[in-house]
Amino acid sequence: MQFDTIAAISTPMGEGAIAIVRISGDEAVEIADRLFRSPSGKRLVDSSSHTIHYGHLVDPSTDETVEEIMVSLMKAPKTFTREDVIELNCHGGLVSVNRVLRLVLQYGARLAEPGEFTKRAFLNGRIDLSQSEAVMDLIRAKTDRAMNVALNQMDGKLSRLIGELRQALLETLAQVEVNIDYPEYDDVEEMTIPLMIEKGKWVQSEIIRLLSTSSQGRILREGLSTVIIGRPNVGKSSLLNSLVQENKAIVTDIAGTTRDIIEEYVNVKGVPLKLVDTAGIRETEDLVERIGVERSRQVLKEADLVILLLNGSEALSPEDERLLETIRPMDAIIVVNKTDLPQQIDIETVNQLASQKHVITASILQDEGIDELEETIASLFFGGGIEAEDPTYVSNERHIALLHQAKTSIEDAIQAAEARVPIDMIQIDITRTWELLGEIVGDTVQDSLINQLFSQFCLGK
Ligand code: GDP
Ligand code: ZN
Repeated sequence: MQFDTIAAISTPMGEGAIAIVRISGDEAVEIADRLFRSPSGKRLVDSSSHTIHYGHLVDPSTDETVEEIMVSLMKAPKTFTREDVIELNCHGGLVSVNRVLRLVLQYGARLAEPGEFTKRAFLNGRIDLSQSEAVMDLIRAKTDRAMNVALNQMDGKLSRLIGELRQALLETLAQVEVNIDYPEYDDVEEMTIPLMIEKGKWVQSEIIRLLSTSSQGRILREGLSTVIIGRPNVGKSSLLNSLVQENKAIVTDIAGTTRDIIEEYVNVKGVPLKLVDTAGIRETEDLVERIGVERSRQVLKEADLVILLLNGSEALSPEDERLLETIRPMDAIIVVNKTDLPQQIDIETVNQLASQKHVITASILQDEGIDELEETIASLFFGGGIEAEDPTYVSNERHIALLHQAKTSIEDAIQAAEARVPIDMIQIDITRTWELLGEIVGDTVQDSLINQLFSQFCLGK
């Protein structure tokens, strides 16, 4: 495929000592060559692929040196985009990087759209759609585990499994055709229907297995939505601060949050916690006061995990009991705080009202019990042995939705086969399953979807 030459800053803004301007396309080397001066006089256009060059970037209109740089030169096809790629490694801050980018644009490149590098890798056949999406997940990954999931997916493990399922469906369809084409078999249905059912059931079970990993996959990807509740003064802000200070997440900033609820990410033993409404807790001490009864009910309902704090130095109050009642149907951990003070609370009653939920005693002030709380959170959600090494689990909403559709469709096929409906009707359902699975890896998706997906990427990726 032929595209114009694009460029963008490909390192996160303001992070790290080195910034990279990446150029990709047929003219990448020429454009860089116009701006680059090496001490030996060697030109980039005369250099071989996959080499690194030290020198200066100059503004050709004034001959003024703009930056001291290292240039990585990578020629197609062994590059991320499968096009010629130049990376200009600048060590300056934002201003000089922007200046380098401006020169690159002035001398022939076009500013890349968000995700356009990855989109080219996809369009040039280097990676499939689920791998492209993994790149996006990787950029946003909040913990090492989440990063492993994305890396595995980028590596193509999900794609390969989907490929196997599609292959099985295709072979089934082919077999059906063969049987229909050879009328000497006196009973095509006798030959074909059992095969359809058997293969169909295998595909169904694999889809179900994949789907069963999705809630944990989603949590790794998006964070475990967590709300801390409790009466005033039980220690909510203290717990929050303690969690935030000890467990700084890799990424704390989520682009485009224009919501009245503020979210903060912390990394608790590999589980990304999305602490909801932290501002509410910090500023007004009270979720309900800040966002209203209705909204706070909603927040509670959407939470993956509730941490209810009780004050051990006081007797259980009617409000405590009401809160214990509220969290009964939810995933919750109860923390009895302030164990450093003389205890008034009746732990037996707490345990009863907690009905099977974990009850942890803690003194947040003295940093006791926090570790147990963190262990409990981690074991609650990753106790099922779902170490991120498991290569084939799905976390992407689009994939999950497609898998659900594919599951319905293959179940229709199985049912139809079992009811002995005409074979061509069953073929339709099998074909549809094959198409739906194909959409996961981008085999059967339309252009508009692709554009929409890639526009979600950060600029420069
Ligand atoms: P919130 O209203 O639920 O957010 O509670 P805060 O975190 O603001 O804490 C209220 C008060 O309890 C503060 O003075 C804290 O220092 C204190 N506090 C929090 N945790 C403990 C604890 O474990 N032991 C003691 N003795 N005091 C605590
Ligand atoms: Zn507080």
